[in-house]
Amino acid sequence: MQQLSGKVAIVTGASSGIGYETARLFAREGAKVIATARRQAELDALVAEIERDGGEAVAIAGDIRDEQLARTLVETAVGRYGGLDIAFNNAGATGEAAPVSDIPTVAWQAILDTNLTSAFLGAKYQLPAMTKRGGGSIIFTSSFVGSTIGFPGMGAYAASKAGLIGLMQVIAVEYAGRGIRANALLPGGTDTPMGRATANTPEIRAFVEGLYALKRLARPEEIARSALYLASDASSFTTGASLMVDGGVSVNRT
Ligand code: NAP
Repeated sequence: MQQLSGKVAIVTGASSGIGYETARLFAREGAKVIATARRQAELDALVAEIERDGGEAVAIAGDIRDEQLARTLVETAVGRYGGLDIAFNNAGATGEAAPVSDIPTVAWQAILDTNLTSAFLGAKYQLPAMTKRGGGSIIFTSSFVGSTIGFPGMGAYAASKAGLIGLMQVIAVEYAGRGIRANALLPGGTDTPMGRATANTPEIRAFVEGLYALKRLARPEEIARSALYLASDASSFTTGASLMVDGGVSVNRT
């Protein structure tokens, strides 16, 4: 049986990596997907793939920092598919690595806007639509960086990802009475363009993989399966949670 049959889901950061695989999985599980990112061609390829698999999706290209995009995504969910049940607020960027005193203020602001303020803007329009629907599941892609690891050079990224957990916890409490669950997904290093940019030589990749208890990076499909868990009724008693899916990097000392 499909786990998201009859559901409508927004997936941000859907042109690549974790978002791409999650959009495909949600659609395979029966959800109608509104997929967004800046790159139209990649989104069109995603929609074509979903439709080939017998699913339903629409692509809306835009910049996640744009409040109008947040409104349009929800209006599309409601206007085209009748409502909104699931939001996977996943778009993110690391920015240039630099020690904190060397981070240009505009670069700090850009990462906070892309990773954190975008999620606030998304939630601002998603929550009323889910309330009208009688409930829903809102998920934020945070990271082990900013939660269990102080990763050098990633001050803005870590602050934005930690901020998502605070936002998620407040939403979990404010909206529980309206049937909405809010959770954060904390992936470890994942084999996506972002993950490969961080581990960008065979030597660095081998070093990074060695930090994990499982001695490898995640495949994006593995993170997608955890997003599906949080989106579906399988996690019906889970709200306010930070779900680590990090291959043991946070506990490993081997
Ligand atoms: P990815 O393959 O680089 O994908 C990032 C996605 O975010 C792309 O679809 C990108 O789309 C979108 N995006 C970035 N800036 C945007 C903007 N201004 N407006 C609209 N969309 C934007 O990376 P990923 O690994 O799948 O990352 C997904 C999420 O997981 C991120 O939040 C990341 O921080 C988090 N994460 C990743 C790892 C890892 O090791 N990979 C670990 C922990 C957490 P466009 O470029 O088309 O706009």
